[in-house]
This record gives sequence, structure tokens and C-alpha cells, in this order.
Amino acid sequence: MNILIVFAHPERHSLNGALLDIAVAELQSQGHEVQVSDLYTMHWKAAVDRSDFPDLPTGERLKVASASSHEFAADGLTDDVKAEQEKLLWADTVILQFPLWWFAMPAILKGWVDRVYACGFAYGVGEHSDRRWGDRYGEGVMAGKRAMLLVTTGGWPEHYSERGINGQIDDLLFPINHGILFYPGFTVLPPFVAYRVDRLDDARFEIVSEQLRKRMRTLATTTPIPYRKQNGGDYQIPTMELKPGMETPGAVRFALHVAEQKPCLRDCED
Ligand code: FAD
Repeated sequence: MNILIVFAHPERHSLNGALLDIAVAELQSQGHEVQVSDLYTMHWKAAVDRSDFPDLPTGERLKVASASSHEFAADGLTDDVKAEQEKLLWADTVILQFPLWWFAMPAILKGWVDRVYACGFAYGVGEHSDRRWGDRYGEGVMAGKRAMLLVTTGGWPEHYSERGINGQIDDLLFPINHGILFYPGFTVLPPFVAYRVDRLDDARFEIVSEQLRKRMRTLATTTPIPYRKQNGGDYQIPTMELKPGMETPGAVRFALHVAEQKPCLRDCED
């Protein structure tokens, strides 16, 4: 398999850096091809602005989606964005790796998504009509590829449990898993989450490392999160609401969009 890891940590000699090395070594030992986009080392430009759309006439109001659509269709996006899009097309599996910062991904990674996910590439794909709302949520350019998150947190597993004060981890990661990965078509694997890592001793580092190696060995066989496909008959058109009676018993809010029992989303509880 071809595997792309998008790595968002400002310090290569960090726990995240060590976990990246472990993931890459394990994947390569399995015979996979690996590319890493190390966003800080690349000095990735995180903010979308006019300079992303070289064809936009001076003085014309910037409308990001339409400028993105035009520039993508004209093959006029900037070279850094095109290179990342090529990597995504090359990859069979994509891993987004980051420390949880303020309950979300670091800004540099969000900026990678904002710029690389061009209109016509990651959204605005397929037929948009009163019968269909495009190819998204399970369909799209990334269909057939797998993706997963590799996340570290300072918080304890209990803090991210059903009654935990931080909110459940699968709720916090839903906008990324469902909104950023499933939306353009990826099949989404349960995330690898290493909790309570700020004072990680050598023994726990070894446990986390071995759990990560195992996940890297099972990328092709891990059961994905069973998100419902937009165009699979579960949603009303055009409101895109889940049809009455389709919900898994007891499921509310984000969980409505998961078709069956959720898999265990926690790897590294101690
Ligand atoms: P590091 O600081 O590099 O290392 C952590 C520990 O691992 C250290 O004890 C270190 O000794 C050990 N270690 C590192 N490398 C190795 C190695 N090679 N071998 C063995 N041991 C090693 N946490 C939350 O839960 N929720 C939040 O919303 C949140 N927001 C944050 C916002 C900001 C701005 C910041 C800075 C932190 C936030 N945190 C939050 C905490 C953050 O998620 C953790 O600090 C981060 O996940 C730790 O990962 P790291 O790679 O930076 O670890």
C-alpha cells in the first residue's frame, strides 16, 4: 500500500515525532511505501488568502469556493497545494497525526485541509441538483481509500469518556472523522488515541508504541467506523435529515450518523 502521513507537530524530537518514527518503521517493514508531509518542517502556509488563487484579477472580490473551483479546474492552484493533492491521489491510506490542542487539530493542519481540499477536489464533486447533493459522505474523489487519525492528548481516558468533563472523544473527533475524512469519500478507521501522555514514563511509552505498531499492521483489515453514506438511502432529499426510524436505538446527535454499534474508539487506556 501507499501511505501518506500528514504530521503536525512543531518539534521533531517530541513524543509525536517518536510515534511517527515508529509508525513509518512498522509500515515500511510490512513492505508499504510511506510519504510524510511534515507540515512545520515544510513551513506550510496555513491561511487561505488571495495568493492561493493566482488567476484572481486584482480588485475582484475573493470568494474562496468559486476561486478555488476555478483555479482547480484550470490547474492553477499553487505548487505546494498541488503537491499535497498528488500525494492524496497516490495514497491508499492517509493518516493525520497531531497532538490535541484546544480539543481540535493544530491550526497548521486545519490550514492544510483548508488549502488542499479544493473545490472540485474534496467538495463540490458530482451532481448537485434537487435530486442529489453531490458525491460526498462516503463518495467522492477519496472513495476507496482509508484514513485514520493518530492523536495524543494530555487528558486522561476518563476525561474523554461518556461522562467525562471534556466530552466523549468520538464526539470531539467527529468533525474531523466525519466532516473532513468521510466527506470527500474516505473510509474512516477508528482513531488511535494515546491519552495522558504529558508525563509518559518508559513503560507506558513501550505500551503505546506496541499498540501503535499493531494498528499499523492492521490498517487494511481494521473494521471502519460505519458512517452512513449520504446517497445510500438513509437520508431525506433535499433536507439531508436521517429518515425517521433509521436510527440505531438510543442514538442521538452525532451518533445518528453511525449505522451500527460504534467500535471501541479508545486504544491506549491504562
Ligand atoms: P511531548 O511533550 O514531546 O512528550 C510527552 C511525554 O512523552 C514526555 O513525558 C516525554 O518525556 C515523553 N517522551 C517524548 N518522547 C519520548 C520518547 N522518544 N521516548 C519515550 N518517552 C518520550 N490536551 C488535551 O487533552 N486536550 C486539549 O484540548 C489540549 N490542548 C492543548 C493545547 C496546547 C496549545 C498545548 C500545548 C497542549 C494541549 N494539550 C491538550 C496537551 C497536548 O495534547 C499534549 O501535550 C500532547 O498531546 C503531547 O504530545 P507531544 O508530542 O507534544 O509530547
